[in-house]
Amino acid sequence: MATSTIRIKKICEWCGKEFEAQKCSTRFCCKRCAEHAYKDRQRHKRKQETEAMVIETIIRQREESVIHRAYLSVQETADLMGVKRNAVYQLIYHGKLKAYRLTSRVTRISRIDIEELLSTSLYVRKSKAKSSVSDENGEAISEFYTTKEIITKFGVSNSWVFAQGKAHNIPKVYHRGKTLWSKTHCDRVFAAKPEPPKDDDWISYSNVRAEYNLTHDQLHNYVKYHGLRRKKVGKYTYILKSEIDAILRPPTLK
Ligand SMILES: [Zn+2]
Repeated sequence: MATSTIRIKKICEWCGKEFEAQKCSTRFCCKRCAEHAYKDRQRHKRKQETEAMVIETIIRQREESVIHRAYLSVQETADLMGVKRNAVYQLIYHGKLKAYRLTSRVTRISRIDIEELLSTSLYVRKSKAKSSVSDENGEAISEFYTTKEIITKFGVSNSWVFAQGKAHNIPKVYHRGKTLWSKTHCDRVFAAKPEPPKDDDWISYSNVRAEYNLTHDQLHNYVKYHGLRRKKVGKYTYILKSEIDAILRPPTLK
């Protein structure tokens, strides 16, 4: 083996002393230091392996305890499904997953409901969107509104456009990720949108709010809680004046 006469000044990585090395890659001043460092690395490795095993055991135990329980918390449901807590709440809020609220802090979800949700949520690839469409007489439709244009022109909400589109079977096409609606059909359907009812029995949300000084949520909660009759006209919600008055009007002495 060729020996080099080069001497490189280095600091021992174990004892910190300065020494002269023959190679740049030498890390320790002597065999003893090299062995100490090696043993230290081995100890560190064993420690990490042991810790990893403990963590794995804890996770497995937690998973097993979840698997055998009939009712799970929101967090446990999230863990089980491999999603974030928030995703579970979204499923609950959208009525897709049943949840039982036992107290304001305790919510439980049945395993059966989780499995039912999964089994009924089969991924189905949507069929390719149509890129051209024809009207009732078989004539190709060439003029369209975007959803946004309808919202602006007729003063309706996004969901109303889609609801009416479905209800009236308005021909539509998809173009570059946007839904385009047949212009003539839209003009017919949305222009016929009834004006706020003349009928005095009905009163709009905004009028009730103004009269009783309520926030939208407060009023909405009253309506929900008392199960008041509602009707939607365009983007406006109407309730029966007599019903809300009966709840909110202070009793009068006769
Ligand atoms: Zn050393």
